[in-house]
Formats: sequence, structure tokens, C-alpha cells
Amino acid sequence: MGKTRILILGGTTEARLLAEQLTEHEGIDVLLSLAGRTKEPLPQGAPVRVGGFGGSAGLAAFLKSEGIEMMIDATHPFARQISANAADAAKIADVPFFALGRQAWLPVVGDQWHEVADVAAALTALGPTPRRIFLAIGRQEAHHADRFPQHFYLVRSVDPVDPPLQAPDVVSILDRGPFDLDGEVRLLKQHLIDCIIAKNSGGSATYAKIEAARLLGIPVLMIARGAATTVPTVGSLEAALDRIDHFVSVAAKRGV
Ligand code: NAP
Repeated sequence: MGKTRILILGGTTEARLLAEQLTEHEGIDVLLSLAGRTKEPLPQGAPVRVGGFGGSAGLAAFLKSEGIEMMIDATHPFARQISANAADAAKIADVPFFALGRQAWLPVVGDQWHEVADVAAALTALGPTPRRIFLAIGRQEAHHADRFPQHFYLVRSVDPVDPPLQAPDVVSILDRGPFDLDGEVRLLKQHLIDCIIAKNSGGSATYAKIEAARLLGIPVLMIARGAATTVPTVGSLEAALDRIDHFVSVAAKRGV
């Protein structure tokens, strides 16, 4: 009997770990899809394809032509376009589909969060007085800072912001999580940061900056998630593996 062919939409630690684990499953042939944003992604431990599909129609065509029998959206919570495309494509191609999601972070005692809708709203909320900002949102949306040149920006990303920011007072650092509390406290102190702009990504890899902000009494402009998805979603790697196991064993019993 053939193996069950599974496509994972990735670009996250969870997707990488899930794909890696599925390579060890004898009944599964896994393929991990990356957008290609990171110049040198970490080794993924599973077969990878790179680049967009061409919208939901392109993804649906890919699912059919590649004989994909199940798709999992394990992309970042702020990668909204690919998630919407995946939900549409699964319907068009009639392929079983679920998402591996991350719980959003919740504020705890000591946090000074101000929720905002997006990066532009966060920068607008800062007001005219110059501030020292840790812009911890990755590189794709960092260019919004150019419209607010009165602030100092510490920008951290895996690859350089391209083209570089035009704002006059910018320090760029290239680094990849996971980050730890000591390092984040040191970084915030070193650059005299007085406000952090962050996405509510959830997960542990980038949470240390939120803890560091709490410790140092620094406010966080927290970019909120979009509307909740209607796609069936599991919240952990284990739950995703259970669901996949169940699907594969049912398919095996049916002899497909
Ligand atoms: P996005 O806005 O939701 O997607 C834009 C387009 O990129 C999609 O329409 C699709 O192109 C392509 N794409 C995105 N993810 C893909 C994937 N896994 N495989 C193949 N094509 C993909 O995505 P984004 O916010 O730019 O994020 C890009 C990637 O970076 C995602 O894989 C995400 O998991 C990862 N990431 C994003 C963030 C973030 O804050 N947004 C943070 C960390 C990691 P076509 O329409 O041509 O298919």
C-alpha cells in the first residue's frame, strides 16, 4: 500500500518539528513548504519545496497534481494570506485540512501592554516625542518606521531589512530565536529601550522579550491577532500527530 502524502505549510519551528517527526512515520510521505523569505533557513529535517503557489487556485492545483491527501497549516499566526489561501484550496481540492496553531500570549501581572491593530497603528500611538523603540516584528513590515523618523529603532531580524530603513537613528541586529531572558534584558538595557513593538505571536521562542519588558517596567505595544479562524485547529505538536495518525490509520483500513 502507498504512503499517505502530507503537505505542511511551514516557516515556523512547529512546522519544522512536525515535518521532522513525520519523516519517521513509515506510512507517511511528508513535504514541507516554505515561502522562501529566509535566505538560509535552518535544516528542516524533511523534504522541502520553496516559493509561493500562486494563490488559492495555484495551491489547489498543486494539491491535486502532487497527490496530496492531507494538508496542515503550520504557518505563523500573522501569515494571514497563506492561511486564507490554504483554507480555500483545501475546499477546492477536497483535501482534509487542519491548522496547527499557537495560543496567543496573555498579559500577566506587571505587564504594561497596549493592544494595537498593526505596525502602523503602533508607531502612530507613540506620538511625536522621540522614544527608543525595540521593533521586534521581523523585517517585512519594518519599513513603516521610516514615516516616524523622530524615534530611535533597534531592529532585529533574521535577514537584513531590504532596502535598509531611511529613519536616521537605527541599529540593526541579525539574530534568530529562541531568545533567553538574560540576553533580552541585556539588549534592552544596552540600547536604553523605553518601548517595545511586538506581534502577539505566542509560543516560547520569542517570549523572553515580553518577560524582560515586565522585569524592566517597559511598555509593550502588542499587535493583536486577526479574527479567529473557523478552520479546525489543534494547539500542540502532540495533538497534530494524533490527528494525523488517526487519519492515516483510517485511510489504511479503507485501503486507500
Ligand atoms: P503571507 O502574507 O500569509 O503570505 C504571502 C504569500 O507568500 C502567500 O500568498 C504565498 O504565496 C506565500 N507563502 C506564504 N507562506 C508560504 C509557505 N509556507 N509556502 C509557500 N508559500 C507561502 O505570509 P508572510 O506573513 O509573508 O509569511 C511568509 C512565511 O514566513 C510564512 O511561511 C510564515 O509561516 C513565515 N513567518 C511569518 C511571520 C510573520 O510575522 N508574518 C513570522 C515568522 C515566520 P502564493 O499566494 O503565491 O502561494
